[in-house]
Amino acid sequence: MTDFVFPASAPTTLPVAGRTAVFPVGRVYCIGRNYRWSQDEHGTPLVEMPAWFMKPASAVMQARGVLPYPPGTSDFCHEIELVVAIGRGGRDIDPARVERDHVWGYAAGLDLTRRDLQAQAKRAGGPWEAAKAFDHSAPCTPILPAAMFGHPREGDVWLAVNGIERQRADLSDLMWPVPELVAMLSRSVTLAPGDLIYTGTPAGVGPLQPGDVVSGGVAGIGEFSMTVKNTHSISPTGDSP
Ligand code: MN
Repeated sequence: MTDFVFPASAPTTLPVAGRTAVFPVGRVYCIGRNYRWSQDEHGTPLVEMPAWFMKPASAVMQARGVLPYPPGTSDFCHEIELVVAIGRGGRDIDPARVERDHVWGYAAGLDLTRRDLQAQAKRAGGPWEAAKAFDHSAPCTPILPAAMFGHPREGDVWLAVNGIERQRADLSDLMWPVPELVAMLSRSVTLAPGDLIYTGTPAGVGPLQPGDVVSGGVAGIGEFSMTVKNTHSISPTGDSP
């Protein structure tokens, strides 16, 4: 057995709907623009992969209870997204085999963003990590196994703050549907079991304030409700003291 100089961290996990076994999270890939945000964006055929970036697995938390307001920002924004959970990895994956052979399940997730830091990074032409890859920045509902529930092609993706709707779209509006998206990503990197792919957010992104109740979901996949709290007394695991 390997002799570590200190105990290796246990993997971040997410619950699985209807199972006691949990899903071990590998890497977290996030896709940039994948819905049209205005009527002006017509359905021109896409040839280039949308931008992607990553968050650490440690940013993933179950979407429930308290959502900590992060440090270093005054523009903490919500992005509701369908999350694809990879069960079998690969590269140069055939789109026709993505669902059958590679997708383990689905969830609803939040790609939380420090928008002010993202704007600074864009102006400076620098990387986005500070805007995207912070603690608790990737809440996610339990994974719904595709083997039991199938593969969603349509259904509402929605988010509300204090009961007022901010985002709503349909999965059929995805410019890059899941098979093409996963296949394209696998031409850029080798996907591995446990990888999560946040598939992009519809229009309507906006700020959250301490005290807000943010709720959202993907129809037939998962729903959540969390309360934003500004506190430093929350442990790194997201558990309240
Ligand atoms: Mn996003």
